[in-house]
Amino acid sequence: MSSLLIRRTLVEGKEQDILIQGNRIAKIAPHIAVEGFTQEIDGHDLIAVPGMANTHTHAAMTLFRGYGDDLPLFTWLNDYIWPVEAHMTEEDVYWGVRLACLEMARTGTTCFLDMYSFPLATAQAIEDSGMRGVVSYTLFDRGEEKRAREDRENCYRYLKEFERFSQRVVYSIGPHAIYTVSGKQLRFCKDFAEENGVVVHLHLSETQKEVDDALKEYGKRPALYLEDLGALSKHFVLAHSLYLSDEELQVIAASGAACVHNPASNMKLASGAGFRFEDMKRLGIPVGIGTDGCSSSNNLDMFIAMRMAALLGKVSFKDPTVFSAKEVYSAATSAGYQILGIDGGRLEEGALADLCLLRSKTPIMTPCHNLVSNLVYSADGSVVDTTIVDGKVIMLHGCIEGEEEVLEKTAERAYNLIGKYGIR
Ligand SMILES: [Zn+2]
Repeated sequence: MSSLLIRRTLVEGKEQDILIQGNRIAKIAPHIAVEGFTQEIDGHDLIAVPGMANTHTHAAMTLFRGYGDDLPLFTWLNDYIWPVEAHMTEEDVYWGVRLACLEMARTGTTCFLDMYSFPLATAQAIEDSGMRGVVSYTLFDRGEEKRAREDRENCYRYLKEFERFSQRVVYSIGPHAIYTVSGKQLRFCKDFAEENGVVVHLHLSETQKEVDDALKEYGKRPALYLEDLGALSKHFVLAHSLYLSDEELQVIAASGAACVHNPASNMKLASGAGFRFEDMKRLGIPVGIGTDGCSSSNNLDMFIAMRMAALLGKVSFKDPTVFSAKEVYSAATSAGYQILGIDGGRLEEGALADLCLLRSKTPIMTPCHNLVSNLVYSADGSVVDTTIVDGKVIMLHGCIEGEEEVLEKTAERAYNLIGKYGIR
Protein backbone atom coordinates (compact mmCIF):
# COMPACT_ATOMS: atom_id res chain seq x y z
CA MET A 1 0.00 0.00 0.00
CA SER A 2 1.35 3.45 -0.87
CA SER A 3 1.83 5.84 1.98
CA LEU A 4 2.19 9.55 2.16
CA LEU A 5 3.29 11.51 5.19
CA ILE A 6 2.61 15.21 5.60
CA ARG A 7 5.02 16.56 8.20
CA ARG A 8 4.37 19.42 10.61
CA THR A 9 1.19 20.77 9.06
CA LEU A 10 -1.37 22.84 10.95
CA VAL A 11 -4.50 20.93 11.93
CA GLU A 12 -6.98 23.07 13.83
CA GLY A 13 -4.20 25.38 14.98
CA LYS A 14 -1.81 22.64 16.15
CA GLU A 15 1.23 21.28 14.36
CA GLN A 16 0.57 17.64 13.42
CA ASP A 17 1.70 14.93 11.03
CA ILE A 18 -0.88 13.35 8.75
CA LEU A 19 -0.30 9.81 7.55
CA ILE A 20 -2.18 8.67 4.49
CA GLN A 21 -2.21 4.98 3.66
CA GLY A 22 -3.71 3.91 0.37
CA ASN A 23 -6.60 6.28 -0.21
CA ARG A 24 -7.51 6.96 3.43
CA ILE A 25 -6.27 9.16 6.24
CA ALA A 26 -4.64 6.64 8.58
CA LYS A 27 -3.41 8.84 11.40
CA ILE A 28 -3.27 12.45 12.56
CA ALA A 29 -0.80 12.95 15.42
CA PRO A 30 2.44 14.76 16.31
CA HIS A 31 5.67 13.05 15.10
CA ILE A 32 4.41 9.94 13.35
CA ALA A 33 7.13 7.34 12.74
CA VAL A 34 6.68 5.18 9.64
CA GLU A 35 8.74 2.37 8.24
CA GLY A 36 9.29 1.57 4.59
CA PHE A 37 9.15 3.88 1.63
CA THR A 38 6.94 6.86 2.17
CA GLN A 39 6.44 9.98 0.12
CA GLU A 40 6.87 13.00 2.36
CA ILE A 41 5.54 16.51 2.09
CA ASP A 42 6.86 19.32 4.24
CA GLY A 43 3.68 20.84 5.66
CA HIS A 44 5.42 23.60 7.59
CA ASP A 45 3.45 26.89 7.47
CA LEU A 46 0.66 25.10 5.63
CA ILE A 47 -2.85 24.54 6.97
CA ALA A 48 -4.51 21.17 6.32
CA VAL A 49 -8.21 21.31 5.45
CA PRO A 50 -10.64 18.83 3.90
CA GLY A 51 -11.21 19.19 0.15
CA MET A 52 -14.46 20.81 -0.94
CA ALA A 53 -17.32 19.22 -2.90
CA ASN A 54 -18.87 21.30 -5.68
CA THR A 55 -22.33 19.72 -5.69
CA HIS A 56 -23.67 21.23 -8.90
CA THR A 57 -21.73 22.07 -12.03
CA HIS A 58 -21.44 21.47 -15.76
CA ALA A 59 -17.67 21.12 -15.94
CA ALA A 60 -17.22 21.15 -19.73
CA MET A 61 -18.75 24.63 -19.87
CA THR A 62 -15.35 26.06 -18.97
CA LEU A 63 -15.11 26.30 -22.79
CA PHE A 64 -17.77 29.05 -22.61
CA ARG A 65 -16.10 31.13 -19.91
CA GLY A 66 -16.65 34.78 -20.78
CA TYR A 67 -18.75 34.01 -23.85
CA GLY A 68 -22.23 35.54 -23.89
CA ASP A 69 -22.43 37.37 -20.57
CA ASP A 70 -25.04 39.93 -19.50
CA LEU A 71 -27.86 38.56 -21.61
CA PRO A 72 -31.42 37.50 -20.84
CA LEU A 73 -31.57 33.76 -20.15
CA PHE A 74 -33.58 32.95 -23.28
CA THR A 75 -31.35 34.91 -25.69
CA TRP A 76 -28.25 33.50 -24.04
CA LEU A 77 -29.40 29.87 -24.41
CA ASN A 78 -31.09 30.11 -27.82
CA ASP A 79 -28.65 32.32 -29.67
CA TYR A 80 -25.35 31.77 -27.89
CA ILE A 81 -25.08 28.45 -26.06
CA TRP A 82 -27.27 25.88 -27.83
CA PRO A 83 -25.99 26.52 -31.39
CA VAL A 84 -22.42 25.96 -30.18
CA GLU A 85 -23.29 22.99 -27.95
CA ALA A 86 -24.91 21.31 -30.97
CA HIS A 87 -21.45 21.09 -32.54
CA MET A 88 -19.50 20.02 -29.48
CA THR A 89 -17.68 16.71 -29.75
CA GLU A 90 -16.56 14.21 -27.13
CA GLU A 91 -13.05 15.62 -27.46
CA ASP A 92 -14.30 19.14 -26.70
CA VAL A 93 -16.09 17.90 -23.60
CA TYR A 94 -13.02 15.93 -22.53
CA TRP A 95 -10.76 19.01 -22.68
CA GLY A 96 -13.39 21.28 -21.15
CA VAL A 97 -13.58 18.95 -18.17
CA ARG A 98 -9.79 18.67 -17.96
CA LEU A 99 -9.65 22.46 -17.65
CA ALA A 100 -12.39 22.36 -14.99
CA CYS A 101 -10.49 19.71 -13.02
CA LEU A 102 -7.34 21.80 -13.22
CA GLU A 103 -9.16 24.85 -11.89
CA MET A 104 -10.88 22.87 -9.14
CA ALA A 105 -7.66 21.20 -7.98
CA ARG A 106 -6.03 24.65 -7.88
CA THR A 107 -8.86 26.13 -5.83
CA GLY A 108 -9.42 23.49 -3.17
CA THR A 109 -12.18 21.35 -4.69
CA THR A 110 -11.52 17.61 -4.68
CA CYS A 111 -14.92 16.26 -5.69
CA PHE A 112 -17.85 17.44 -7.82
CA LEU A 113 -21.26 16.53 -9.17
CA ASP A 114 -21.57 17.08 -12.91
CA MET A 115 -24.31 17.11 -15.53
CA TYR A 116 -23.57 17.36 -19.26
CA SER A 117 -23.59 15.46 -22.54
CA PHE A 118 -20.91 12.84 -23.33
CA PRO A 119 -20.66 11.36 -19.82
CA LEU A 120 -17.88 8.98 -20.84
CA ALA A 121 -15.69 11.88 -21.97
CA THR A 122 -16.35 13.63 -18.66
CA ALA A 123 -15.57 10.44 -16.76
CA GLN A 124 -12.32 9.91 -18.69
CA ALA A 125 -11.22 13.49 -18.01
CA ILE A 126 -11.85 13.05 -14.28
CA GLU A 127 -9.97 9.77 -14.35
CA ASP A 128 -6.97 11.29 -16.15
CA SER A 129 -6.82 14.38 -13.96
CA GLY A 130 -6.81 12.45 -10.67
CA MET A 131 -9.93 14.22 -9.39
CA ARG A 132 -13.02 12.65 -7.87
CA GLY A 133 -16.35 13.18 -9.60
CA VAL A 134 -19.92 12.02 -9.77
CA VAL A 135 -21.02 12.13 -13.41
CA SER A 136 -24.69 12.33 -14.32
CA TYR A 137 -25.98 10.89 -17.56
CA THR A 138 -28.43 13.59 -18.68
CA LEU A 139 -32.02 12.60 -19.45
CA PHE A 140 -33.83 15.12 -21.65
CA ASP A 141 -36.89 13.73 -23.49
CA ARG A 142 -39.16 16.79 -23.80
CA GLY A 143 -42.11 14.38 -23.69
CA GLU A 144 -41.07 12.36 -26.78
CA GLU A 145 -41.55 8.68 -26.02
CA LYS A 146 -38.85 7.50 -28.47
CA ARG A 147 -36.23 9.71 -26.86
CA ALA A 148 -37.45 8.75 -23.39
CA ARG A 149 -37.00 5.07 -24.20
CA GLU A 150 -33.48 5.69 -25.50
CA ASP A 151 -32.66 7.63 -22.34
CA ARG A 152 -33.87 4.78 -20.15
CA GLU A 153 -31.78 2.29 -22.11
CA ASN A 154 -28.79 4.59 -21.85
CA CYS A 155 -29.14 4.73 -18.06
CA TYR A 156 -28.40 1.00 -17.97
CA ARG A 157 -25.82 1.11 -20.73
CA TYR A 158 -23.73 3.79 -18.99
CA LEU A 159 -24.09 2.03 -15.65
CA LYS A 160 -22.17 -0.86 -17.25
CA GLU A 161 -19.73 1.38 -19.16
CA PHE A 162 -18.71 3.17 -15.97
CA GLU A 163 -17.45 -0.09 -14.48
CA ARG A 164 -14.21 0.47 -16.39
CA PHE A 165 -13.33 3.56 -14.35
CA SER A 166 -11.72 3.70 -10.93
CA GLN A 167 -13.70 4.30 -7.76
CA ARG A 168 -12.97 8.02 -8.05
CA VAL A 169 -15.40 8.21 -10.94
CA VAL A 170 -18.95 7.59 -9.82
CA TYR A 171 -21.99 7.12 -12.04
CA SER A 172 -25.29 8.92 -11.53
CA ILE A 173 -28.28 9.99 -13.59
CA GLY A 174 -29.44 13.54 -14.26
CA PRO A 175 -32.98 14.17 -15.41
CA HIS A 176 -32.45 17.77 -16.54
CA ALA A 177 -35.57 19.42 -15.08
CA ILE A 178 -39.31 18.86 -14.67
CA TYR A 179 -40.00 20.95 -17.80
CA THR A 180 -37.68 18.90 -20.04
CA VAL A 181 -38.30 15.41 -18.65
CA SER A 182 -41.70 13.69 -18.55
CA GLY A 183 -43.36 12.64 -15.31
CA LYS A 184 -43.15 8.98 -16.19
CA GLN A 185 -39.42 9.35 -16.77
CA LEU A 186 -38.90 11.08 -13.42
CA ARG A 187 -40.61 8.16 -11.76
CA PHE A 188 -38.29 5.81 -13.65
CA CYS A 189 -35.30 7.79 -12.34
CA LYS A 190 -36.42 7.28 -8.78
CA ASP A 191 -36.79 3.52 -9.30
CA PHE A 192 -33.51 3.28 -11.17
CA ALA A 193 -31.70 5.08 -8.34
CA GLU A 194 -33.18 2.80 -5.74
CA GLU A 195 -32.29 -0.28 -7.71
CA ASN A 196 -28.70 0.82 -8.41
CA GLY A 197 -27.86 3.09 -5.48
CA VAL A 198 -27.03 6.15 -7.61
CA VAL A 199 -27.62 9.87 -7.17
CA VAL A 200 -30.42 11.54 -9.16
CA HIS A 201 -29.24 15.02 -10.14
CA LEU A 202 -32.11 17.39 -11.04
CA HIS A 203 -32.50 21.15 -11.53
CA LEU A 204 -35.52 22.15 -9.44
CA SER A 205 -37.29 25.47 -8.89
CA GLU A 206 -34.51 27.57 -10.32
CA THR A 207 -36.79 30.38 -11.51
CA GLN A 208 -40.16 31.87 -10.72
CA LYS A 209 -41.16 30.96 -14.28
CA GLU A 210 -40.58 27.28 -13.56
CA VAL A 211 -42.95 27.52 -10.60
CA ASP A 212 -45.58 29.45 -12.59
CA ASP A 213 -45.40 26.96 -15.44
CA ALA A 214 -45.73 23.99 -13.07
CA LEU A 215 -48.78 25.59 -11.47
CA LYS A 216 -50.29 26.13 -14.92
CA GLU A 217 -49.47 22.70 -16.29
CA TYR A 218 -49.79 20.42 -13.27
CA GLY A 219 -51.73 22.60 -10.82
CA LYS A 220 -48.88 22.15 -8.36
CA ARG A 221 -45.58 23.66 -7.35
CA PRO A 222 -42.51 21.71 -8.60
CA ALA A 223 -41.60 19.71 -5.46
CA LEU A 224 -45.25 18.82 -4.82
CA TYR A 225 -45.56 17.67 -8.43
CA LEU A 226 -42.55 15.38 -7.90
CA GLU A 227 -44.00 14.06 -4.66
CA ASP A 228 -47.31 13.43 -6.43
CA LEU A 229 -45.53 11.43 -9.12
CA GLY A 230 -43.90 9.37 -6.38
CA ALA A 231 -40.61 10.61 -7.81
CA LEU A 232 -38.78 12.06 -4.83
CA SER A 233 -36.39 10.15 -2.59
CA LYS A 234 -33.18 10.37 -0.59
CA HIS A 235 -31.24 9.77 -3.83
CA PHE A 236 -32.29 13.15 -5.26
CA VAL A 237 -29.96 16.14 -5.31
CA LEU A 238 -31.98 19.23 -6.19
CA ALA A 239 -29.87 21.93 -7.80
CA HIS A 240 -30.95 25.55 -7.16
CA SER A 241 -34.08 24.76 -5.07
CA LEU A 242 -34.70 28.47 -4.94
CA TYR A 243 -38.46 28.91 -4.93
CA LEU A 244 -39.75 26.49 -2.30
CA SER A 245 -42.90 26.92 -0.22
CA ASP A 246 -43.22 25.65 3.37
CA GLU A 247 -45.15 22.66 2.12
CA GLU A 248 -42.49 21.85 -0.45
CA LEU A 249 -39.75 22.03 2.21
CA GLN A 250 -41.75 19.56 4.34
CA VAL A 251 -42.09 17.16 1.44
CA ILE A 252 -38.38 17.39 0.57
CA ALA A 253 -37.40 16.87 4.22
CA ALA A 254 -39.64 13.80 4.48
CA SER A 255 -38.14 12.31 1.31
CA GLY A 256 -34.53 12.71 2.46
CA ALA A 257 -33.57 14.58 -0.74
CA ALA A 258 -30.80 17.21 -0.64
CA CYS A 259 -30.76 20.80 -1.94
CA VAL A 260 -27.84 22.63 -3.54
CA HIS A 261 -27.34 26.39 -3.40
CA ASN A 262 -25.79 28.04 -6.49
CA PRO A 263 -25.47 31.69 -5.46
CA ALA A 264 -23.29 32.96 -8.34
CA SER A 265 -25.53 31.53 -11.03
CA ASN A 266 -28.70 32.69 -9.29
CA MET A 267 -27.33 36.23 -9.12
CA LYS A 268 -25.79 36.40 -12.59
CA LEU A 269 -28.87 35.08 -14.38
CA ALA A 270 -31.02 37.17 -12.03
CA SER A 271 -32.92 34.01 -11.11
CA GLY A 272 -33.44 35.29 -7.59
CA ALA A 273 -32.37 35.25 -3.97
CA GLY A 274 -33.90 33.87 -0.80
CA PHE A 275 -32.47 30.32 -0.74
CA ARG A 276 -34.08 28.98 2.45
CA PHE A 277 -30.93 27.62 4.11
CA GLU A 278 -32.06 28.26 7.69
CA ASP A 279 -35.41 26.52 7.19
CA MET A 280 -33.68 23.61 5.44
CA LYS A 281 -31.28 23.20 8.37
CA ARG A 282 -34.17 23.30 10.84
CA LEU A 283 -35.96 20.57 8.89
CA GLY A 284 -32.81 18.47 8.53
CA ILE A 285 -32.54 18.83 4.74
CA PRO A 286 -28.90 18.27 3.68
CA VAL A 287 -27.56 21.32 1.83
CA GLY A 288 -24.56 21.56 -0.47
CA ILE A 289 -22.97 24.44 -2.40
CA GLY A 290 -22.31 24.52 -6.12
CA THR A 291 -20.85 26.91 -8.65
CA ASP A 292 -23.03 25.79 -11.59
CA GLY A 293 -21.33 25.89 -15.01
CA CYS A 294 -18.78 28.47 -16.10
CA SER A 295 -21.29 30.25 -18.33
CA SER A 296 -23.31 31.31 -15.34
CA SER A 297 -20.67 31.53 -12.64
CA ASN A 298 -17.53 32.08 -14.71
CA ASN A 299 -15.26 30.30 -12.26
CA LEU A 300 -15.33 27.10 -10.24
CA ASP A 301 -13.72 28.53 -7.12
CA MET A 302 -15.66 27.20 -4.14
CA PHE A 303 -14.11 29.80 -1.81
CA ILE A 304 -15.92 32.42 -3.85
CA ALA A 305 -19.09 30.33 -3.98
CA MET A 306 -19.04 30.07 -0.16
CA ARG A 307 -18.59 33.81 0.22
CA MET A 308 -21.41 34.56 -2.20
CA ALA A 309 -23.69 32.09 -0.40
CA ALA A 310 -23.03 33.73 2.96
CA LEU A 311 -23.33 37.32 1.75
CA LEU A 312 -26.34 36.77 -0.51
CA GLY A 313 -28.09 34.90 2.31
CA LYS A 314 -27.58 37.72 4.77
CA VAL A 315 -28.80 40.44 2.43
CA SER A 316 -31.76 38.37 1.21
CA PHE A 317 -33.10 37.89 4.71
CA LYS A 318 -31.79 41.23 6.02
CA ASP A 319 -30.17 39.32 8.87
CA PRO A 320 -26.38 39.23 9.42
CA THR A 321 -26.65 36.20 11.73
CA VAL A 322 -27.91 33.77 9.08
CA PHE A 323 -25.73 31.78 6.67
CA SER A 324 -22.87 31.72 9.20
CA ALA A 325 -19.35 30.96 7.99
CA LYS A 326 -19.38 27.70 9.95
CA GLU A 327 -22.61 26.47 8.35
CA VAL A 328 -21.62 27.51 4.85
CA TYR A 329 -18.22 25.86 5.25
CA SER A 330 -19.75 22.61 6.37
CA ALA A 331 -22.16 22.71 3.38
CA ALA A 332 -19.13 23.04 1.07
CA THR A 333 -17.17 20.20 2.71
CA SER A 334 -18.64 17.40 4.86
CA ALA A 335 -22.29 17.94 3.86
CA GLY A 336 -21.36 18.10 0.19
CA TYR A 337 -19.54 14.79 0.36
CA GLN A 338 -22.36 13.23 2.33
CA ILE A 339 -24.93 14.31 -0.26
CA LEU A 340 -22.90 12.49 -2.90
CA GLY A 341 -22.60 9.39 -0.72
CA ILE A 342 -18.80 9.67 -0.56
CA ASP A 343 -16.93 9.11 2.69
CA GLY A 344 -14.80 12.28 2.59
CA GLY A 345 -14.89 16.03 3.16
CA ARG A 346 -13.59 15.51 6.69
CA LEU A 347 -10.07 15.72 8.07
CA GLU A 348 -10.43 12.61 10.18
CA GLU A 349 -8.71 9.28 10.59
CA GLY A 350 -10.50 6.72 8.44
CA ALA A 351 -11.97 9.24 5.97
CA LEU A 352 -10.99 9.26 2.30
CA ALA A 353 -7.77 11.22 1.80
CA ASP A 354 -9.22 14.17 -0.15
CA LEU A 355 -7.55 17.22 1.36
CA CYS A 356 -5.64 20.41 0.71
CA LEU A 357 -2.79 22.32 2.27
CA LEU A 358 -3.28 26.07 2.35
CA ARG A 359 -0.66 28.80 2.56
CA SER A 360 -0.85 30.47 5.96
CA LYS A 361 1.79 33.12 5.20
CA THR A 362 -0.27 35.26 2.88
CA PRO A 363 -2.09 38.56 3.55
CA ILE A 364 -5.64 37.20 3.12
CA MET A 365 -4.96 34.52 5.75
CA THR A 366 -3.24 36.84 8.25
CA PRO A 367 -4.02 37.09 11.10
CA CYS A 368 -5.92 33.88 11.65
CA HIS A 369 -8.21 34.52 14.61
CA ASN A 370 -10.72 32.15 13.10
CA LEU A 371 -9.75 29.83 10.25
CA VAL A 372 -13.27 29.19 8.98
CA SER A 373 -13.98 32.92 8.93
CA ASN A 374 -10.86 33.48 6.81
CA LEU A 375 -11.81 30.65 4.46
CA VAL A 376 -15.33 31.95 3.84
CA TYR A 377 -14.95 35.74 4.06
CA SER A 378 -11.36 36.48 3.13
CA ALA A 379 -9.64 33.75 1.13
CA ASP A 380 -9.93 32.61 -2.46
CA GLY A 381 -8.53 29.63 -4.33
CA SER A 382 -5.09 31.24 -4.57
CA VAL A 383 -4.31 30.14 -1.00
CA VAL A 384 -4.27 26.47 -2.03
CA ASP A 385 -0.72 25.11 -2.11
CA THR A 386 -1.18 21.35 -2.38
CA THR A 387 -4.15 19.16 -3.30
CA ILE A 388 -4.50 15.46 -2.53
CA VAL A 389 -7.29 13.29 -3.92
CA ASP A 390 -7.78 9.64 -3.00
CA GLY A 391 -4.39 9.64 -1.31
CA LYS A 392 -2.56 10.89 -4.43
CA VAL A 393 -0.96 14.30 -4.75
CA ILE A 394 -2.45 16.08 -7.76
CA MET A 395 -0.98 19.51 -7.03
CA LEU A 396 2.27 19.91 -5.10
CA HIS A 397 3.31 23.39 -3.93
CA GLY A 398 1.39 24.98 -6.78
CA CYS A 399 2.55 22.61 -9.54
CA ILE A 400 0.25 20.34 -11.50
CA GLU A 401 1.80 17.95 -13.97
CA GLY A 402 0.63 18.53 -17.53
CA GLU A 403 -1.04 21.86 -16.76
CA GLU A 404 0.36 23.66 -19.81
CA GLU A 405 -0.92 21.06 -22.21
CA VAL A 406 -4.42 21.26 -20.74
CA LEU A 407 -4.47 25.07 -20.93
CA GLU A 408 -3.23 25.06 -24.50
CA LYS A 409 -5.48 22.32 -25.84
CA THR A 410 -8.60 23.63 -24.12
CA ALA A 411 -8.10 27.21 -25.24
CA GLU A 412 -7.57 26.03 -28.81
CA ARG A 413 -10.81 24.02 -28.73
CA ALA A 414 -12.75 26.87 -27.17
CA TYR A 415 -11.58 29.45 -29.75
CA ASN A 416 -12.31 27.02 -32.53
CA LEU A 417 -15.84 26.23 -31.34
CA ILE A 418 -16.86 29.82 -30.68
CA GLY A 419 -15.06 31.01 -33.80
CA LYS A 420 -16.98 28.62 -36.01
CA TYR A 421 -20.40 28.43 -34.39
CA GLY A 422 -20.64 31.24 -31.88
CA ILE A 423 -21.65 34.89 -32.06
CA ARG A 424 -18.75 37.32 -31.75
ZN1 LIG B 1 -27.09 23.87 -13.67
